Amino acid sequence: MPRLFVDIAVPVAVDQLFTYNVPDVLQSQIKVGVRVTAPFGKKTVIGFVVNIPKTTHVLRLKDIHDILDSEPIISEEMIKLTKWVSEYYLAPWSEVLKAALPQRSLSGSKKTISLKTDLEVAFLKTSGAPKQTQVVNLLVQKRELSASYIQKTMKIKSVHSLLNELVQKEIISVEEKLSTGSKPKYEKVILIDERAKQIWNEWLNKPDNQNNKRLAKQIQVLKYLVESPNGVTLPLTKAIKESKSSLSSVSTLAIQGLVTITKQEIKRSITYELHESKQQNIVLNEYQQNAFTHINNAICENKFHSFLLHGITGSGKTQIYIETIKSALSKGKSAIVLVPEISLTPQIVARFQFHFGEKVAVFHSRMSAGERYDSWRLAKRGDSSIVIGPRSAIFAPLKNIGLIIVDEEQESSYKQFDKTPRYHARDVAVMRAMENNAVVVLGSATPSIESYHNAQSGKYKLIELPERVDNAQLPEIEIVDMLIERQKKFETFRAERKAEFEKDAVAARALKRKLYIGSISDVLKEKIEDRLSRKEGVILLQNRRGFSAFVECYNCGHIEMCEHCNVTLTYHSTKKHLRCHYCGYVKAPPDVCPKCLSIQLNYKGFGTQRIEDELQKMFPSASIVRMDLDTTSVKGSHNKILSQFALGEFDILLGTQMVAKGLDFSRVTLVGVICADTQMLLPDFRAAERTFQLLTQVAGRAGRSSSLKGEVVIQTYQPNHYCMKHVVDHDFVSFYNEEIKNRKDLNYPPYSRIALIEIKGKNENEVSRHALKIHQLLIAQSRQLKILGPAEAAISKINNYYRWYILIKDLKTKDPSGK
Ligand code: ADP
Ligand code: ZN
Ligand code: ZN
Repeated sequence: MPRLFVDIAVPVAVDQLFTYNVPDVLQSQIKVGVRVTAPFGKKTVIGFVVNIPKTTHVLRLKDIHDILDSEPIISEEMIKLTKWVSEYYLAPWSEVLKAALPQRSLSGSKKTISLKTDLEVAFLKTSGAPKQTQVVNLLVQKRELSASYIQKTMKIKSVHSLLNELVQKEIISVEEKLSTGSKPKYEKVILIDERAKQIWNEWLNKPDNQNNKRLAKQIQVLKYLVESPNGVTLPLTKAIKESKSSLSSVSTLAIQGLVTITKQEIKRSITYELHESKQQNIVLNEYQQNAFTHINNAICENKFHSFLLHGITGSGKTQIYIETIKSALSKGKSAIVLVPEISLTPQIVARFQFHFGEKVAVFHSRMSAGERYDSWRLAKRGDSSIVIGPRSAIFAPLKNIGLIIVDEEQESSYKQFDKTPRYHARDVAVMRAMENNAVVVLGSATPSIESYHNAQSGKYKLIELPERVDNAQLPEIEIVDMLIERQKKFETFRAERKAEFEKDAVAARALKRKLYIGSISDVLKEKIEDRLSRKEGVILLQNRRGFSAFVECYNCGHIEMCEHCNVTLTYHSTKKHLRCHYCGYVKAPPDVCPKCLSIQLNYKGFGTQRIEDELQKMFPSASIVRMDLDTTSVKGSHNKILSQFALGEFDILLGTQMVAKGLDFSRVTLVGVICADTQMLLPDFRAAERTFQLLTQVAGRAGRSSSLKGEVVIQTYQPNHYCMKHVVDHDFVSFYNEEIKNRKDLNYPPYSRIALIEIKGKNENEVSRHALKIHQLLIAQSRQLKILGPAEAAISKINNYYRWYILIKDLKTKDPSGK
């Protein structure tokens, strides 16, 4: 036999493929896209075959041990895509593959083996292949075996490929389960025979049947089955329970051949509730129709097309996603829908499930390994033709992709920044669409500056939806200057306690401290009162959880900090403790200042808990619900809060940015932003963009019905920030024009590319020393790049790791390849 080599991607942190020899016995089974086991140093690892090279220069090749899969688990398309991701984002290929496949595909899977044919056939088919016969012999002794048992008993390395041979001969069946123990779940279902329906009519006409008790029970089941909607498979236990019959009656029917009882796989999918049902009989309006036509024509062309769908909040973008997916499916194609984070957008998932039912596979970051495995396999098998999920869903194993949608394309959660591969799912989406001659639609009410820039330059085709559907009007937005508000409150307070203030300076200062300004302006208070009296919904945004942002000593200015991170600790009133939002460190709040022993400690800043307290005191009869990381840690709690709010069980929904996105409740007529400044002041060139997006989005939650007008109140200490004006005017394009000018002046993206190198470690000196060294190396290597830093990160320590940054700017004018 000629020699055969494979290049495999191995899950180690080196950006390199490793070449192995394929022993003769395994040659017939080797394919690109299968997993193999191979010796690596002293260990055995699982790797992916990504290439079968004709020759190799590597000397002294080792042999692979075994082949795990009889069919490739990675398609050719996915090999190409992951290779691109690996090269573009400088990540080892195997790490990209790991991110693209369900968890633990690299730690191997457990296989349960059982005989599929008669013993005689099995022996006949394996005659002349002693190892195969040996497996059959083992299966005679025990009906089910694990692959590892066979491996140990037979003392062979390549058990999987041996089993694959048996699978191909249809002698055994292999059920794969992941090491988490998540194997497919089955349930018994009843299928009704056509003949049963005829017999049913006959039975009905024979009155004496009703008196026979045993028959009566059978009739009950039959009635139940006949009356169930067509095409629905009925779980056995449910059918028995609901028809009030028994297993024996069903069995009798089965013996008569009127029904069949079989096993069917249970999907561990979660279904989302639709909180408001305005889904039926939607006719696209003129703008929507135009958008649909453009996208649909593109799908029909079977060529790559990219669109930026810029539609204001409530303009019916989701409806266009639904209609265009219908069109793609009707042409036998599949679709991927990326959403920022499923747990934050249950409503959109519910709408897809409403329209597409079982065809939708939901990928979810809070899914268990089992659920994830199910969705992945169903998609791979072609049972689901739509995958909806967060960023990693872009790697869904769908075939024949016709349409990829990226909803809220500006969302930062599409970028994986905390672990390799550090990819941006929106950009991968565009690449994947290109590879598949498919259509990609990036949708947003507030597109990212980069995407809008791409639309302006013609790279994406721009489609606009400038109006809300159903004649609903955009809400009116009012800005409240909190500095003036504070001044006002202070003046009132001073007037009320004039005598005390005039006594002496010390007393006046002490008194001033007692003044509690609160976080809700008079304007906002009035409007909330108004909605409460009219039973309309209120959404309030405060983008910080906990009670107070920090605890400060009046006397010496000491602030309670985390021991492990360079950040202030947040006070949580429900648990009565201080907590670090970066590492989770918790401690009791001090009674006295640890530095000067003063007892005058001040809880400063407002978190959602504190606002909740304040609201409850201000509006004692209102029912308020808080939605933030602390109240939604339990699975399903998020959805529950939203359903209750939709039904009007709560008057006020208060929360972090969780309340800003995707919510579509027509009863909400007032949106309040407690403090718009939290994001604006971050040292990030995208701070203004993010603020504009957040405020526009949350404002978009108000006034989503044609009958009730919406209002928005934004409280800020920066009323003159340029972003505010454009938010009030609902004018994305003006904001874009101003922002893009700033980007150009300062050479920020899209006029440059930026890469951030983080150097971190537990020894402060070592970290800074390495940062300096890397900086020098970079400078020496490249004259084209602009290298900034090294500098301590804004949060210089997280979880005991010191952090330094180096920023690399690649000016596109100097780098002709930078498109
Ligand atoms: P967006 O995604 O732009 O915020 P949606 O697609 O969620 O907008 O539409 C907002 C609401 O209007 C939804 O409840 C949706 O069902 C409804 N809707 C969408 N298109 C139409 C239409 N043409 N006629 C009536 N209602 C519509
Ligand atoms: Zn102090
Ligand atoms: Zn910490």
